[in-house]
Amino acid sequence: MQARYVQVDKAGAPLKLVTREVSEPRVGEVRVRVEACGVCHSDSATVDGLFPFISYPRVPGHEIVGKVEAVGDGVPQWKVGQRAGIGWYGGHCRRCEPCRRGDLIACQNPLIPGLIYDGGYADYVVAPTEALVAIPDSLKSVDAAPLLCAGITTFNALRNSAAKPPDTVAILGMGGLGHLGVQFAAKMGFNTVAIARGADKEQFAHELGARHYIDSTVTDVAGALQKLGGAKVILATVTDADAMSAALGGLGYSGEFVIVGIPAKPIQAEVPGMVLQRKSIHGWPSGTSIDSEDTLKFSEITGVLPLIEKYPLERAAEAYERMMSGKARFRVVLETGA
Ligand SMILES: [Zn+2]
Ligand SMILES: [Zn+2]
Repeated sequence: MQARYVQVDKAGAPLKLVTREVSEPRVGEVRVRVEACGVCHSDSATVDGLFPFISYPRVPGHEIVGKVEAVGDGVPQWKVGQRAGIGWYGGHCRRCEPCRRGDLIACQNPLIPGLIYDGGYADYVVAPTEALVAIPDSLKSVDAAPLLCAGITTFNALRNSAAKPPDTVAILGMGGLGHLGVQFAAKMGFNTVAIARGADKEQFAHELGARHYIDSTVTDVAGALQKLGGAKVILATVTDADAMSAALGGLGYSGEFVIVGIPAKPIQAEVPGMVLQRKSIHGWPSGTSIDSEDTLKFSEITGVLPLIEKYPLERAAEAYERMMSGKARFRVVLETGA
């Protein structure tokens, strides 16, 4: 059987639509017919060759939703026709220290779809069963897809943070991750503060559930957060190191600065207050397939959904450029099958 794949032939090469043979699932694997795949900034790791361990040609995409279409041996829990998703967590090595301690998302040799094996810019994906996520019937595939990376990353970072309702939680940035982070924070019962650039995003921030909005182009972000009593958690979804550094001073007593966006340069911190008021900075790496199922269930219960722009698979290169431009509102999704 032949099918369409959008692949990168080598680091730095453009995305290219090709037709090639579909591979069979081996023991412990399933083949999913892709219905939707989100386009994530991390896909640039594959396109630009940011990691030496990526081998080419490689098909990007790690926000995959579709239907199980073939099942390998040793997979009793999945049946042909069931809807399934695959996110950033695509399997683990079973031998590194985090794996041996059961902390699978921190695996030091992670099997990331789109980087280590072919991802969702395609008609089909073959993945190990531990990566699979059950999709609630009420969620459309195009809506569920971004929840498997942008969604889980913000949801899981917030629910594992120090914040408890009704603490003040600030979401720094209102892009693909941030617009979901604001919704999750509001639905979790936090006093939610959205921080973004420009007055034009304020109305939308309130529509997403933010009680407060800080326009970082005209306001001292740290000072504004301190006026609100200081944030228990600031979730940094931006990739701008200076924006992160400017927000850090907005933490309240014992606050946590949780980073899910990856800036190109170091951030700066005023240390004395961090020591005396026991504040911390730490990163958060999405979550496993069961965390994704929790994210989807939470979305189903509370109505948190991504705002998306849809492109057909054959326009994947254009969709990728749109995402990289930073102008997408707010998440780009490839709509592939029916
Ligand atoms: Zn991603
Ligand atoms: Zn491992």
